[in-house]
Order: sequence, then C-alpha cells, then structure tokens
Amino acid sequence: MARKPLREAPHLSARLPDGHAADTISQADAPDITTFAGGGRSARDWKPKHIYFTADAYREPHGRRIAARLEDLGLTYDVQKGNRLPRLGGATVRETYQRAKNTLAIVNAPPSALRLTPIPPSADWQFHLAKGCPAHCQYCYLAGSLPGAPVTRAYANLDTILENNAAYIDPNRPETTFEASCYTDPLGIEHLTGSISRTIGWFAGQPGARLRWVTKYDRVEPLLNLVHNGRTRCRISLNADWVTKRLEGGTADLSARLLALRKLALAGYPVGAVLAPLMPFEGWQEAYAEMLGQLRAALPAGADLTFELITHRFTPGSKGILQEWYPNTSLDFDEEKRTKKHNKFGSHKFVYPREQMRELKEYFTAAIAREFPEAEVLYFT
Ligand code: SF4
Repeated sequence: MARKPLREAPHLSARLPDGHAADTISQADAPDITTFAGGGRSARDWKPKHIYFTADAYREPHGRRIAARLEDLGLTYDVQKGNRLPRLGGATVRETYQRAKNTLAIVNAPPSALRLTPIPPSADWQFHLAKGCPAHCQYCYLAGSLPGAPVTRAYANLDTILENNAAYIDPNRPETTFEASCYTDPLGIEHLTGSISRTIGWFAGQPGARLRWVTKYDRVEPLLNLVHNGRTRCRISLNADWVTKRLEGGTADLSARLLALRKLALAGYPVGAVLAPLMPFEGWQEAYAEMLGQLRAALPAGADLTFELITHRFTPGSKGILQEWYPNTSLDFDEEKRTKKHNKFGSHKFVYPREQMRELKEYFTAAIAREFPEAEVLYFT
C-alpha cells in the first residue's frame, strides 16, 4: 500500500552532540577550505522511484528513522504486508537494470549477516549496512557478487547489527577493524538512511574497535559534526580523471571527492585514499601523477592518511553481467591481455600480467613515497 508522508519523531537521533577527538586538526593550522581549488561536480542525491519496506523492517526503530527521512524528502514508499518484496525484475536485462537501480528496499539483515566474516587485507571483519548501490560504475565490484537485480537493500535492524559487532571486538588486541562498505557505498544512500552517521556514533563509543568505509560520493556535511573520537577512517575512492569520467556514472567527480576528503580530514577523521581500480590505460602515468598532485593540494597539513592500491580485475561471471548492463563500455575486458588468478574455491579472476602488476606497484609505491612521505600504503593487490 502507498503511504503518505507522515511526520514522526526526528530522524536525526543518530547525530550526537558536536565535538571532536583530541587529535582534530586545528583550523588555525590548516589552510582555509576555500583555498583548495576543488569544488567540481557533486553527485546528485539519489531519489529512488520505487521504495519498499518489508513489514518487519518498518517496525524497527531504524526503519522508522528511514521512513521519517523519506517523508522529509517528499518520497513515498510502500510497506509490504509481509517480508517478501514484490517482483523487482523487468522483461529485459536493460529494463531490469533500470528498474533495480531506481529501487530502494528497506529490509532486515538476515541472521546469516550477523555471522561476520574476515575481509583481509582491508579489515578484520566485514559487516553490512546495505547491499547494492545506486551508482553506475562499469567495473562494479558488486556484479557477480550479489545475486539478482541490482536493487539497493538498506538494513533497518541497524541497532542489532551494531550490537552484534561488539561480540567481534578482540579484547586482547589494541584494536579490531570493521569494514562497512564491501557491498554498498554508504554515503550514496546516507541522505535516505542515516546509517553511516549512526554507525560512526556507535564506533565512537567502542575504544577497541575501528570503523572503515569508503565512498565515491561527496556529500560529507552530515558527518562533519559527529563525535567520532578518531575511531572511523573515512576513505574516498579515487582514480584518474580519465577513468572517473568514463566509467563511474552517478558518482561525484574527482575534484568534488577531493574536497570531501579534505573536509573529513579537517573534521579530525583519519582518512584514506583507495586508489581503485588502477588501470594502465594509455598515458596512465601522467594521469595518475596529476591525480596524486591534486590529492596533495587538497590534503590539510597533519592529515592522518593511508593508501590502498587495487588493480582492476574481473571474473568470467562479472564480465558477462557488466557487458549486459553496459554494452557500450570502453572498459578493457580482453582476457588475452590478462593472467588467470585462481582462488582456493576453484574459481578464478583475470588480473594484469605479472610484468604490468610490477610496473604499477613500483610506480605507485615510488610516487606515494615521494608525494606523501607521511602516509602509509596498507596494501597493493
Ligand atoms: S560506487 Fe562501488 S558499489 Fe557503487 S556502482 Fe560504483 S563500484 Fe559499484
């Protein structure tokens, strides 16, 4: 049934009183934000055309917070009688894709989602705020990983999900890390869910835990005044302008992402640059040098920065799906130019050949050491 917008309890209860960790960068030490020639093109806020709540999700406190956000945005939604969603596919692949990318389902994470799994090398554990993403990256990591139509499913039982994390914090180690963006871009749906804000607030109160998440979006303003106690590392996914413009539809452009990273660093968050997916396209060294130069200019003095370096890869399954979704893609899926990398489950992915991997690794390691001697490179893969 269609619901008319209701006025309910404020949905911003995730927002905690203002205040920053002791290591917040002093505004006096940092150049004024207006001096960075950033700006660029922000990502447009996603306004899904179809929004469904399952009955259980609508009963959850966080489900009601999401409903209040939707109402504030003037978006209407349907609440299902039970916990099944309506059929979300279309008659053709294209139709299914278009409908799914315009659909938000608010559901409860199933019990299996509460049995966390490790996610090396990124973090000790992965947990999920949502599965699916409204952006249109032509190499999307989710293709082939998530079954069915690419609907975004946001989880309403967030309080249960967060409390469940507590059981995975190892009291014998100084910190246990948790990754929240394996299957979604949390900032791309934050205006609809408020979930990453609430999660940052929860981790702020967990001395032994660290949150990590990554985005290609730029509307970070709701996060800037949260109490985070330095326990969340906000990472921005960056790539050469050439890649971002051609292959990352619906996301913020490079300048807007860099400005977002700068704002997060100025708000005292540890930050990260996830350089992914790295591609040796023609002129790649100059293009990546330019991107790293822009990052250097955007970073305020004293920022706590890490790098993660991830080369482009695909599986036979993801290639098939992506070529159906993006039939005119300029992304190079030529298996002849790749090396097969097998995993312990007997399947394989296509990665760049050893020599190209070596070249990429050497280039980025040297460039980062030169431009960002203070930063740590966490891994290259
Ligand atoms: S932002 Fe990430 S999850 Fe979203 S479409 Fe792009 S690659 Fe996929």
